[in-house]
Amino acid sequence: MLLVVGGVAAGLSAAARARRLDPRLEITVLEKGPVISYGACGLPYLVEGRVRDPRQLIVYTPEYFRQERRIDVRTGAHVVAVSHPRREVQLASGERLRYDRLVLATGARCDTSGVAGAEQPHVFTLHTLGDAERMRAFLRDRRPKTAAVVGAGYIGVEAADALRRHGLRVTLLERGSNVLLRDDPAFTAAVRKQLEDHGVELRCGAAVDSVDALAADMVVLSIGFRPNVELAAQAGAEIGRTGAVGTDDRMETSVRGIFAAGDCAEVRHLVTGRPTWIPLGTTANKTGRVAGANAAGGAPERFPGVVGTSIVGIFGRAFATTGLSQSEARREGFSPVAARIDAPSRPRYYNGSTTTVELVADRQTARLLGGSVIGDDGAAGRIDVIAAALQARMRLDDFESLDLAYSPPFSPVWDPLLIAAQQLRKQF
Ligand SMILES: Cc1cc2nc3c(=O)[nH]c(=O)nc-3n(C[C@H](O)[C@H](O)[C@H](O)COP(=O)(O)OP(=O)(O)OC[C@H]3O[C@@H](n4cnc5c(N)ncnc54)[C@H](O)[C@@H]3O)c2cc1C
Repeated sequence: MLLVVGGVAAGLSAAARARRLDPRLEITVLEKGPVISYGACGLPYLVEGRVRDPRQLIVYTPEYFRQERRIDVRTGAHVVAVSHPRREVQLASGERLRYDRLVLATGARCDTSGVAGAEQPHVFTLHTLGDAERMRAFLRDRRPKTAAVVGAGYIGVEAADALRRHGLRVTLLERGSNVLLRDDPAFTAAVRKQLEDHGVELRCGAAVDSVDALAADMVVLSIGFRPNVELAAQAGAEIGRTGAVGTDDRMETSVRGIFAAGDCAEVRHLVTGRPTWIPLGTTANKTGRVAGANAAGGAPERFPGVVGTSIVGIFGRAFATTGLSQSEARREGFSPVAARIDAPSRPRYYNGSTTTVELVADRQTARLLGGSVIGDDGAAGRIDVIAAALQARMRLDDFESLDLAYSPPFSPVWDPLLIAAQQLRKQF
């Protein structure tokens, strides 16, 4: 019997993969919430109104899993305890279920306990479908004029964008000096300019400990994101230094037979070589798949790790990062050099717009360590090229000679990535 706790990206990927590898395995997924398999990444667009119906974000239903995959998916099934010696979980209802292998895909949560007044009706988090629906109803029924968004990670920035598009006056408050979890002042300056050009005020160095200090009709708290590790800890699994569940490259925890995947789990950072916690949907799907495969038995499957790639749209412009910024690289013990350039995304005669690229490499080895791309078009493809180079541990000279596509509707003859690489070369 394979038990999976959590019925979103990681949990359902695990269950589906296990079923594919073992048609006879008994598989049950336990989800405490009312829905499964929804794309949380679409929530800001539901708030914005681009996605009109919450049902559009739901990919599969429990009935689908039951009928098409023979996987028993139970909603409203809150696991409150695990006893690994007995190989048993207990639900809030008191029911106990036995397992041979367990996949913990319990995700993460917004911990707003550090902010007084967070339980008021005009205060929101944006983490679940229910959160987004509540926010939509508030916008429709109360017609707020001003909003304060606390925390300038990507969810806060996306929430600010969505609320501004509803016509609210939006202030984005960030405790640190940088945004989007990137220690990079130039990147932050570019984000600030884009926000301010579209009427969102960004205040860095603004620690918020009480909602009542904020003069706003509505407040969004996108802070205190924490992995849900309680069940894993109770089962005796090691919690890593990042605070998430420690795993090996088979996504198994330190307790044999218990796997962890998605936002609750650590993975290896392929640039630093160290465990990291970067909770993202893309990693949740992949680690879930690997955990499910290994929990089902058979040939081992491995998840090598991540390089920390992310991309956010802010009023139509993409802000993308991967690997390490220059200061992050320095903190990790590298001796980084960096080059930052502006270049056209396409030939000017074909409506090219300015793309900003930064590349970071190690002075000693010339190995690429990270990069960022900001642009109105082509940014996703470009950050993916840098991400692939990081994963392949590529050196600057190899990167400089990459055979990238060129045709005026898509790119210039010298791609901004190659121009950045040439500039970086001059620093060696
Ligand atoms: C607003 C927003 C935008 C995002 N945008 C992006 C994006 O653009 N790109 C990207 O890569 N990622 C994005 N993400 C992140 C992505 O959605 C998550 O990384 C992904 O959902 C994690 O999947 P998961 O299955 O690990 O965890 P979750 O989706 O959190 O699912 C965990 C599930 O486990 C259940 N659970 C927890 N504890 C128990 C228990 N004890 N018993 C039973 N059930 C339990 C929870 O109810 C939950 O449904 C976004 C997230 C949000 C909130």
